Amino acid sequence: MLSTMQDVSLTVTRILKHGMTIHGKSQVTTWTGEAEPQRRSFAEIGERATRLANALKDELGVVGDQRVATLMWNNGEHVEAYFAIPSMGAVLHTLNLRLPAEQLIWIVNHAADRVVIANGTLLPLLAPLLPHLPTIEHVVVAGPGDRSLLDGCAPQVHEYEELIADRPTTFDWPEIDERSAAALCYTSGTTGDPKGVAYSHRSIYLHSMQVNMAESMGLTDQDTTLVVVPQFHVNAWGLPHATFMTGINMLMPDRFLQPAPLAEMIERERPTHAAAVPTIWQGLLAEVTANPRDLSSMSQVTIGGSACPPALMEAYDRLGVRLCHAWGMTETSPLGTMAHPPAGLTPEEEWPYRITQGRLPASVEARLVGPAGEILAWDGESAGELEVRGAWIAGSYYGGAGGENFRPEDKISEDGWLKTGDVGVISADGFLTLTDRAKDVIKSGGEWISSVDLENALMAHPEVAEAAVVAVPDERWGERPLATVVLTEGSTVSYTDLRDFLAQTVAKWQLPERWALVPAVPKTSVGKFDKKVIRKSYADGELEVTEL
Ligand code: ADP
Repeated sequence: MLSTMQDVSLTVTRILKHGMTIHGKSQVTTWTGEAEPQRRSFAEIGERATRLANALKDELGVVGDQRVATLMWNNGEHVEAYFAIPSMGAVLHTLNLRLPAEQLIWIVNHAADRVVIANGTLLPLLAPLLPHLPTIEHVVVAGPGDRSLLDGCAPQVHEYEELIADRPTTFDWPEIDERSAAALCYTSGTTGDPKGVAYSHRSIYLHSMQVNMAESMGLTDQDTTLVVVPQFHVNAWGLPHATFMTGINMLMPDRFLQPAPLAEMIERERPTHAAAVPTIWQGLLAEVTANPRDLSSMSQVTIGGSACPPALMEAYDRLGVRLCHAWGMTETSPLGTMAHPPAGLTPEEEWPYRITQGRLPASVEARLVGPAGEILAWDGESAGELEVRGAWIAGSYYGGAGGENFRPEDKISEDGWLKTGDVGVISADGFLTLTDRAKDVIKSGGEWISSVDLENALMAHPEVAEAAVVAVPDERWGERPLATVVLTEGSTVSYTDLRDFLAQTVAKWQLPERWALVPAVPKTSVGKFDKKVIRKSYADGELEVTEL
């Protein structure tokens, strides 16, 4: 028997139309570094997005599913591009502005982007790449910045504001198959070439609904979210789409991502929510410890992208800011789990739940796979590789213009599950605890040591600003942990002190013998600890290692 329900395409266009009308008064506020931020209502953003779509079609000749790239900070114009490009049927390709030049070149050529919309302040990055980007025919420049950097470049250059001025404020939006690609985002390629994940209209729509559920971020038009996570990092965790569904106001930091301006933004604009990786919250904590600011408006912060050290959560609890831990990846749109504790618990009872990666929502299925391919129990103890499946989880990777999408067997299982590369346990009530990434786990003798556990234990020490632990080769054990530590200013703590401190919470055989002080932990393009860089500096003998 067929259902009697209407078959309506779930598209980004629907989200745009809804946001710009029903939530027309909600605001996108962009930090400018000047006395006043830029403020635009959803109605204005929607109208400007419509004019941008007309300009892309009529002036730049964008047709079909051509790719339009963005090289932009989080700001009003980037939100406009987010809606204009997919709604006209083209594909939005967000470029990670922190990637090395050769990776950006590889990615743009692989996607065969025709147009790039860039912030003026990023032209020093873009201009030298252009000679290597033969598919780019147009550069559209938005916001302040020195245009002369583009003098003599091959693509045609357009001013964003001039381009969208005097365009029609309506667009005959095409009927779009909800399964077609709306946005394209490449994984950062820590191993091998970057891989393109193409989100569909449908996956974005369903994912936005999940973001808005109370068990996830659960915000409304009474909220303002400070979107620190870049729009090029998995669609800013889905926030720009989710906000247009429910009218959540957005506060966009543009290029002002340093701790001091972030603290000022929070104090002045009083967002109720924010989203960013742990590194950002570490930096902000140091800033407000030195120069106190009122952060109390933020009742909830979504933190993820790498493991949140429990000590960081405690420090923010003391400031009245609750960090809620979430897990996800580029391939999962990214929302996988979020750590809201179950009902009816005291704060002490909630704690063990809060420090997990979180609970699985109804639409994300998970399984744990052991070393021999066996499916493991959800008993909170059996550790295996996490595999997931669902309507906003990637089932293949983009094959490039004219190429076929592909399913590498180390990433997608034969029966279609995404292999996350994360190792962990799941409790009977569906809370996921990651112990490590498969490639970071320390294999010592026959046992596994979690680098993340050691880092969290170390970062609980008051004189440790940051700590990253990696596996290094060891003649006797195969691998042993090397602890690299950043101490707080003026600290005189010794390695033995730190080891004794660790011994209070960590089994003796897991304690690192090798220690090195570093000025800073190297970070990836999205602010995660870059362990391959640490392993390499160790291998190249660049670290001053002390063995206890
Ligand atoms: P990349 O793989 O380049 O770092 P992603 O942003 O897709 O790019 O990273 C996804 C990975 O980040 C996950 O597979 C996981 O290892 C890690 N991660 C994300 N959130 C968390 C979290 N809350 N705790 C621990 N690790 C996390």
